[in-house]
Amino acid sequence: MKIRIPEYYKDFECIGGECIDTCCAGWEVDVDKKSSAYYKSVEGTFGDRLRSMLVDYPVEDRFILQDNARCPFLNDRNLCDIYSELGKDKLCETCTNFPRHITEFGNTREIGISLSCPIAAELIMKRTQPIKFEMYENDEKISGYNDIDAGLYYNLCAARETAYNICQNRDLQINHRAVLFLDFAAALQKKIKSSGLSGIISDYKDETFIRSRLNKLINKYSKYRKADISLLEWLDTYKSLEHIKNEWPVMLSDAEEYIKKGMPNAENSAILIHKRDYEYEHLLVYYIYRYFLRAVFDDRLFEKAQLACAALIMQELSGMAWYDKNNDFSFVDQITIMRIYSKETEHSEENLEELYTQFHKKKAFSCKSIMGILLGSNLGA
Ligand code: SF4
Repeated sequence: MKIRIPEYYKDFECIGGECIDTCCAGWEVDVDKKSSAYYKSVEGTFGDRLRSMLVDYPVEDRFILQDNARCPFLNDRNLCDIYSELGKDKLCETCTNFPRHITEFGNTREIGISLSCPIAAELIMKRTQPIKFEMYENDEKISGYNDIDAGLYYNLCAARETAYNICQNRDLQINHRAVLFLDFAAALQKKIKSSGLSGIISDYKDETFIRSRLNKLINKYSKYRKADISLLEWLDTYKSLEHIKNEWPVMLSDAEEYIKKGMPNAENSAILIHKRDYEYEHLLVYYIYRYFLRAVFDDRLFEKAQLACAALIMQELSGMAWYDKNNDFSFVDQITIMRIYSKETEHSEENLEELYTQFHKKKAFSCKSIMGILLGSNLGA
């Protein structure tokens, strides 16, 4: 099996009981059927406790959550009783894997770590250099090929490299890179079912082409005047999602209030925020790595680009609102917002699906609107 990982992956280590936002609270713990069957077979008092906390569901079973949505096996020292009673190898798949995200494409498995974990977020964001990826092979036999179109897969792999290059082009400011990336994804989407992807990829590799394209987009969208209205509509959408942590609605209300006040101090906070453009660059690269290639399963590439740009915009907006409220915006504040956003949007299948649905339905999430927000609002001040 070929394994692809981001270069920071090997440095990740869970800090368990020391964690400020343990992944063992706040959401459902899905228990795969194999682990569930094993837990039901454990003898003695601990087996009784396991059985009393398991509920059967069709695909995966679940533990009954306790107060504050804590896993029933998370003890008062924030350590896992299943780990200490039965051993690390007896954790269910969810707990073994988290915060790793894993996607398989034929004989290639891509693994990363999620921004919803505070340690992962810090590890990713503290790098100043552009993030690179590594590939190695292990002896694992491929258990089953997924049904993907090989031609499309290789084209999307090449397109993803170009997308990384656009987003890691440090000669351009971050919102300009995001606009070019979105524009690239829109062009690819139009041809995804034909054989025209390689021509588009060549165009967006060409420095002269992308400069001229960017100038056209800046001319077209820098006078966009509906950004505030669109952003308020975005916030309504985010508010309507099921929420996991109480910090999330507070963050959304702060952002709403900030827009309604006319985004004061926008220039100062934007300067402070954009001093660390590379953190936003890593954010885009994270989303591209995690989602872009999944278009091979559903042909829906543009929505993956919308997801990445939405994360960037929400991060910028929330950062500016944070600065306005606290007169400061530190690295810790930055990764706090990223962690909250990731937890709420990436770790609920329902929320992610709802976001994709709204991306297709609402004009506020259209290509035009996203470009207008990125180029014509105070976010780019
Ligand atoms: S969120 Fe990350 S550091 Fe915290 S307990 Fe989970 S894996 Fe460990």
